[in-house]
Parts: sequence; C-alpha cells; structure tokens
Amino acid sequence: MALKKIEKNPSAFYFPLLIKNILQSPLNYNPEQEIVYRDKMRYNYRTLAERVARLANLLRGLGVEEGDVVAVMDWDSHRYLECFFAIPMIGAVLHTINIRLSPEQLIYTINHAEDKVILVNSDFVPLLASVKDQFKTVEKLVLLTDEGEQSQGGLEFAGEYEALMANSPAEYDFPDFDEDTMATTFYTTGTTGLPKGVYYSHRQLVLHTYGLVTAVCAYNSPVNVNTGDVYMPLTPMFHVHAWGMPYMFTMLGNKQVYPGKYEPAILLKLILEEKVTFSHCVPTIIHMLVTNPIIKDLDLSNWKVVIGGAALPQGLCKAALENNINIISAYGMSETCPLLTAAILKPHMLDWDIEKQVPIRCKTGMPVPNVLLRVVDSDGNSMPHDGESTGEVVVRAPWLTQGYLKDPEKSEELWKDGWMHTGDVGYIDEEGYLQITDRIKDVIKTGGEWLSSLELEDILSQHEAVSEAAVIGVPDEKWGERPIAVVVLHEEFRGKVTEQDIKDFYQRFVEKGIIPKYGVPNRVEFVDTIPKTSVGKISKKDLRNMYAGG
Ligand code: AMP
Repeated sequence: MALKKIEKNPSAFYFPLLIKNILQSPLNYNPEQEIVYRDKMRYNYRTLAERVARLANLLRGLGVEEGDVVAVMDWDSHRYLECFFAIPMIGAVLHTINIRLSPEQLIYTINHAEDKVILVNSDFVPLLASVKDQFKTVEKLVLLTDEGEQSQGGLEFAGEYEALMANSPAEYDFPDFDEDTMATTFYTTGTTGLPKGVYYSHRQLVLHTYGLVTAVCAYNSPVNVNTGDVYMPLTPMFHVHAWGMPYMFTMLGNKQVYPGKYEPAILLKLILEEKVTFSHCVPTIIHMLVTNPIIKDLDLSNWKVVIGGAALPQGLCKAALENNINIISAYGMSETCPLLTAAILKPHMLDWDIEKQVPIRCKTGMPVPNVLLRVVDSDGNSMPHDGESTGEVVVRAPWLTQGYLKDPEKSEELWKDGWMHTGDVGYIDEEGYLQITDRIKDVIKTGGEWLSSLELEDILSQHEAVSEAAVIGVPDEKWGERPIAVVVLHEEFRGKVTEQDIKDFYQRFVEKGIIPKYGVPNRVEFVDTIPKTSVGKISKKDLRNMYAGG
C-alpha cells in the first residue's frame, strides 16, 4: 500500500512557517510589554511592530529586494532585534557580522555573503572603513548610533538609522512566500582556514523557536521560564542569533532587555534594575562575574542562566550556585541553529540537594525533542549508552544548516552519510545524557589512549586556588602526546601554589579511579590570562601555538 497523503482542498491555505508570524502573538497577548535598550530606549511591542515596518520601508527605499543580503554590525540592541525581523520579513537575508573578526576575515565574509547594504554601529566604522576599498557588492551603508548623527569616519552613509526610520512609513504589507527561503546567514571562524558561512530558512528558525519553547519553557527544570520572565542576552546577537532566544521571547511577548556593549557594571545594573530573570552565555562571562568581588553584595537569586558554547566546569557551576545564580549547561553550534541538548534534570533529580545536582547540571545534556543524536565509531556504528564508549557526535534535526555557503566540498564533509558531523567527541550515559569530552582536534592521544581535555579541565576547576584552566596536548617523543595544564590562579593564591600541588591534586582523582595515571599533566604553566576566541571561548589554537609549537 502506498502512503495516504492528505487531501488539500483547492481553497485551503497552505501555511508557510514564516518569521513574520512570530511577531503577531505578542501583539495579541501583551502589546504593552517593554523592550529596553540600556538606559537609552524603552518601548512596547506595538512600537516594535511599527518600527519593523519602518525598517522594511527604509530598506526597500535603499534598493533592497527579495534575495538581497543585508548585514548588521552592532552591539546587542533594540535595533538588532528590529533587523532580526524586518530583513527576513521582506524576503531579504540577514547577515549577522561577527564584530570581532580581523579586517581580512571581515572583508572576506562581506564579499562572500554578497552584502548589498551594511548597517554599522559608529564603534565599528573605523574597522569597516579599513576594508571599504575591497567592497565588491556593497552599495549602501546605514549608520547606527545611540546619540544621533556623528562623524562619519571615512565612510559615506545613506543616512543615520533613526533619521531614516523617522522618514519611513510605519506600515508595510509583509508578503507570504516559500518557508524554505533563506532568512539568515553568518560565518563560523573555525580554527583553520577561511570562515565558513552557515544559513537558515524561515521554516528552520520558526521550528527552532518552538524547539526552544519546549527545552526552556516546558520541562520542569530549575531554569525554566514562562511569559513572566525578563530576558537579557549575554551571547552576542551576531553569534547564532543569540541562540535564537530573541525570536522565542518575542513570540511569547516577554519583557526583553538589550545591554549594548557588554560592560560588567552596566550588565549588573540592568540585571538588578530591570529585574532580569533569564540569560545565556559562554562560561567566560559567568567566570568574569563570579570572580568580581562586587558580586558578594548583590542579590542575583532570581537570575537563571543557561551556559553553552563550551563545557561548564563543575567548579564554576558551584561558584555560580554559591552566589545564588541558577545555572545549567546546554550544547549546540553555529551549524545547528544552535539548539541540540540541554542539561534538563529528570523528575527524580529535582529534589536532590545542589551538591548532587552539580554533575548533572554540568552535563552536555539531553537531546531536546526533534533532535536525533548519536555517538558513532569511525565506521558510523552507534556506540552503547554506557557512559564510557566514546566516539563522534552526529546529529539530525529540522533546524541544521543544510551546508556551508557556496562550499560543496565542506558541505559534503559536514553531512557525510546523511548525518551532520559535529566534530565533537563524547559519550552517552545510561540516563541518556551526552557528555562532550573534546573537539576531535583537541583530543589528547597519549600512548595510544585518548584523554579528555575537558575532563582534565573540569578537575582543575574544582581546586580552590584555580580561577581558570585549560589543558592541551603537546607532542612527546615517547608517548605521541602528553597533557599540559595552563592555569590562572585566584589572586590570593598566586606564588603560593606550585606545579607539584596541582599534580598532587590530580593524583587524588587517579586514586579514586576517575582518571588514569597517565592523565596527570606533565607540566603546569601558571599564567595571568588564557587567550580567548572572538566569541569568548578558551582558544586552544592559541594555546597550542604558545606551548606546543602549533
Ligand atoms: P560555535 O560554532 O562557535 O558555537 O562552537 C560550537 C562548539 O562549541 C561545539 O561544536 C562544541 O565543541 C563547543 N560546545 C558548545 N557547547 C558545549 C558544551 N555544553 N560542552 C562542551 N562543548 C560545547
């Protein structure tokens, strides 16, 4: 028997999943709710919808047509939120530019994405001006400022955002179109080679929004949210659409707070004054907050934070919990929109004491509904869920990039055998939680055995003197590779903790059978800071260059 397809009445409307529909529900549910930008701007959802229409008219007036690419270089702002909607809603493609790229990477991505218009914050005008002679497709620039017109620093602008908005009509009839239309694109900087472009359709972003609702709102988890929560991103909006959270919180009509440039004093002020209850960030940001003495005097007990982008070390999780910051880990990547897993606690774990919950909260997590996730060996066979068998993580979900922009070879590598290859290695335990142990290229192979650099880092995070730590493999004649630890000590322990102390600490985990004897690093380097990537993660590439000759 053939499958029985549904019948479509000729008059029935086939409803495309489009971003424009996300913007409808807050207008019904909570039109007066606020969207806040620092202490600079505060408006409600009605105004948001009106400004999205103005921006659509503004862009059309600049010659933007369906299929054109419009790029944004801004801090996290209400303007960025407007771009998240208006640009895809007119059938154009939003290119979110990583503002920390080098000039070479910046111009490469602008030309590769074929940007036609760039909206640029005055803070990045000098950077953009430095590459303007190499523009291939850019026709118009729009200046974004907090204070109105400012000096133009070597670039010619079609105008300043607010002035252009004021002159644009506040109504726009947003069309329906195919849900597979490209809505967004951005670049992953990877560790080698040129940046690679990923891209997402309207359908994917809408489905991802519902995926987030399930993962973040529906489960009875310590960090779950509802429409009463106040949202502030702490992952830049250029990085995987701030994990898609602005789309979710807009759909739900929550109060949203956009902090502009991330400055610790302003972030803390906004959290307290605007009563922010939910954020997400890389571990570095939480580390920066919990190591700041001022935090002891603040009441952050209403603040829930999801950590992703890198492993959440247990030591950092405990430090956050001690400061009453409610924290769990989640996992995803630029190629996956990003949601894949979250460290959702199972019902029987909810009343565990915090100490017992910490290892679960730090797990990479459980695949959220509609994410299929396997750990496979080199022949693509699934590994057992035994908490030990380690292999590559491969995934399928409705919202994964279908390739790399204009790069069929790398796209094929990414999607070999119909599964997206994450380049991460890990295992799944009996409870179904994934634990990432390394990026494939960061795995330390010593005497033919794999060592997890993330596990060795997690152990260091539990040492009272250690503020931050990274472990990398360095070449070794006898063993192939050996681990070395790079450690930043808390101020009060500097000069007092020795290499031997750190090795002795590891030895305790050897004695408990947690790591093998050969897991104790050969060397410990005490440093003042650990280099970070453009999105604030520990840069193992830089560390290898420093300590392992690349
Ligand atoms: P990006 O594309 O810059 O977002 O980086 C994605 C990569 O970050 C993943 O492939 C992982 O290697 C790493 N990552 C993200 N979340 C986690 C996590 N919870 N634990 C460990 N690694 C993570």
